[in-house]
Amino acid sequence: LLRRIAERTFDLVVIGGGITGVGTALDAVSRGLSVALLEAGDLAGGTSSRSGKVFHGGLRYLEQLNFSLVRQALTERDLMVDRLCPHLVSPEPFLFPFTRRWERPYVGAGVLLYDLLRLRGTRSVPGHRHLTRRGVLRQMPALHPGRITGGVRYHDVRVDDARHTLTVARTAAGLGAQVLTRMQVVGMLWDGDRIAGVRARDVSASAPASAGSWPADVGLPAAEFPVRARCVVNAAGVWAEQVQALAGRPSISVTVAKGIHLVVPGDRIDSRTGLIARTPDSVFILRRWFDHWLLGTTDTRWEHGPADPAATRSDVDYLLGQANRWLRAPLGAGDVVGIYAGLRPLVSGPAAVTAALSRDHVVVSGPPGMVTVVGGKYTTYRLMARDAVDACARWLGRLPVSGTEWLPILGAAGHDVLRGQRSSLAAESGVDEWWIGRLLGRYGSLTTDLLDLIADRPELGRPVPGATGYLAAELHYAASHEAAMTLEDALVRRTRIFMETRDRGLAAARHAAGVVGEVLGWDETRRDEEVVRYRLEREADRRAAAALTDQEAVTARRAVRGTAASSGCREQM
Ligand SMILES: Cc1cc2nc3c(=O)[nH]c(=O)nc-3n(C[C@H](O)[C@H](O)[C@H](O)COP(=O)(O)OP(=O)(O)OC[C@H]3O[C@@H](n4cnc5c(N)ncnc54)[C@H](O)[C@@H]3O)c2cc1C
Repeated sequence: LLRRIAERTFDLVVIGGGITGVGTALDAVSRGLSVALLEAGDLAGGTSSRSGKVFHGGLRYLEQLNFSLVRQALTERDLMVDRLCPHLVSPEPFLFPFTRRWERPYVGAGVLLYDLLRLRGTRSVPGHRHLTRRGVLRQMPALHPGRITGGVRYHDVRVDDARHTLTVARTAAGLGAQVLTRMQVVGMLWDGDRIAGVRARDVSASAPASAGSWPADVGLPAAEFPVRARCVVNAAGVWAEQVQALAGRPSISVTVAKGIHLVVPGDRIDSRTGLIARTPDSVFILRRWFDHWLLGTTDTRWEHGPADPAATRSDVDYLLGQANRWLRAPLGAGDVVGIYAGLRPLVSGPAAVTAALSRDHVVVSGPPGMVTVVGGKYTTYRLMARDAVDACARWLGRLPVSGTEWLPILGAAGHDVLRGQRSSLAAESGVDEWWIGRLLGRYGSLTTDLLDLIADRPELGRPVPGATGYLAAELHYAASHEAAMTLEDALVRRTRIFMETRDRGLAAARHAAGVVGEVLGWDETRRDEEVVRYRLEREADRRAAAALTDQEAVTARRAVRGTAASSGCREQM
C-alpha cells in the first residue's frame, strides 16, 4: 500500500486525523478529489477524544453577542441529530439553576434566543422550559435545596467524540480516501517554491527499521516515503504551528490551554438532567455520559508541549469544588472513576495572512500549495472542513461545492429501522436486547457486522472481564474494522473502558490484548508488551494526578516512563 501511495499524486494530502482532518478528507473525497490522510498517532488521539463530548451552540457565546457563531453551531448540532449521525448522538437536558431573582429574565432571554436562533424547525432537540424551585428539585434531587430559587432547562447533544471521528474517517475511506495512521509527516516535498506533497515516516510499533527502497528518483531516507499532492491541508490542531514550521517560517502562533474532565458513577448523582453553572471565569458543566456523569472543565495555560497533557490534583480538586457548590451529598476524590485532559489551540497570527472565514476558526493559505485550518469547535468541524477545501481551490482550480450537509456518515442509514427490530435481532442472534440497544448507539446499522461476528464466534458475545459494559466482539471489531493498532487504541478510544472503569481498564487489559492480538497477529511477547505499556501509562497518569502543579505532573510521568525504560518494562510492572 505504501509503495502504491508513494508512486501516485493525490489532489489532497491531509495532515492530522482529528475531527478537522477526517472531516476535511470526507469533504474533499465527496467532491471527487483523490485524498490521502496521514495521522501521526491514532485517529482522534489528540484533542478529538478529549473534549466535553457535546455538540452545542455555545450558550455562553450569547453573552459575548456572537450570534452568528451560535446560529452556525446550533444548525450543525441539529443537523447531526436529524441527518448526519443520529446513531451516535443523543439530545440531553441541562439545567441552569437560579439563586438570584434577576437570573430568570436574564438567562431566560438567553435560552429563548438560543432556541430562536435555530434555523431548522425540527424538534428532535427539544426547546427550553422554565422551572419553579420545586420543579428544579424534582428534576435534580441531588441539588442542595438551600440556594435555589428556580431554573430553566434546555437541551444540547451528547456525542462520543472519538467514535464519531473514527466513523467520519471510515466514511471518507469508504468513498476512496487513503487513511493511514501512525504516519508522521516529517517534512515537505517541493516543486520550486511550491509545496508538492509531504515526507512521511511510519512510526508504528511494527514499522520495519528500513521501509525498503523507493523509486530511485525519490531520494529520501529509506524509512521515509513521499506522498505527492497538488495541495496539502494542515489540520494538526495544537501541532499546527509545528507542521507549518516544516514548510518554512510559521504564519500562525499556537499557544495551548488545558481542560480536564472527571467521570463519576451514574448512581452517585440523583438527577434526570445535567447542570450548567457559572464559575468566576467560565462555566461548570455536569452532563450525563451513558451510565456515568462527566464533570468539566478547567481552562489553564499549558506550557509543556502539545503531546501529553496531564491532569493534576489541583485540577481535580477545582472541579470537585465546583460540583460540591451545588450538590447535597458532596463528591470526593474516591468517587472519581476516570480523568482525562485535552488541549485547546489558541491561535494568533498577522491579520495579513489570516483569512477568518468564520469567526471561530482560522484558515490560512500559504506557502503556495498549503492550507492550514485550526481552531473552532468539534461542533463546527464540517464548516471548518468545507472552508479548508474551498481554500484549496486556489491551488486545485474550481471545485464542486461541498455536499457533506447531505452525507450521513457510516452506520446512519437504516439504524432507526434496526432500532425498531431490536427484539427480533435479539431473538435471532441470542444477544440480549439491552446489548443490541447499546451496540446500535455505538455502531448504528453497522451493528449487524458485530452480530455476524458473534454468530461465527459466540464467545465474542460475552462481556469483557473487568469491563462489563462492553462485549469482546467490540474489541475484535476495533482491530478488524476500526484501525486499532494498539491496546491503548482499543481501550481508550474505540471503547471507553479506560475512563469508565475504576481501575482504568487494568483488569480488562490482558483479556483485551488476547482479543485484539488475535486479529493483529501478536505473539505472546507482543501481547505482554502491550499490557505492560498500557499499565505503565495508567501508572504515569495516576502519579501525575497526585501532583499539585503541571510541572510536577510532567516530572512524575517522565519518572515512571524513565524508570520503566531503564529497568525494562517487564520487570518494572
Ligand atoms: C477540554 C476541552 C473540551 C472541549 N469540549 C468541546 C465540546 O464539548 N464541544 C465542542 O464542540 N468542542 C469542544 N472542544 C473543542 C474540540 O475538542 C476541538 O475543537 C477539536 O477536537 C479539535 O480537533 P482537531 O482535529 O482540530 O485537532 P486534534 O484532534 O488535536 O487533531 C490533530 C491531529 O493531528 C495529528 N498530527 C499532529 N502533527 C502531525 C504530523 N506531523 N503528522 C501527522 N499527524 C499529525 C495529531 O496526532 C492529532 O491527532 C473542547 C476542547 C477541549 C480541549
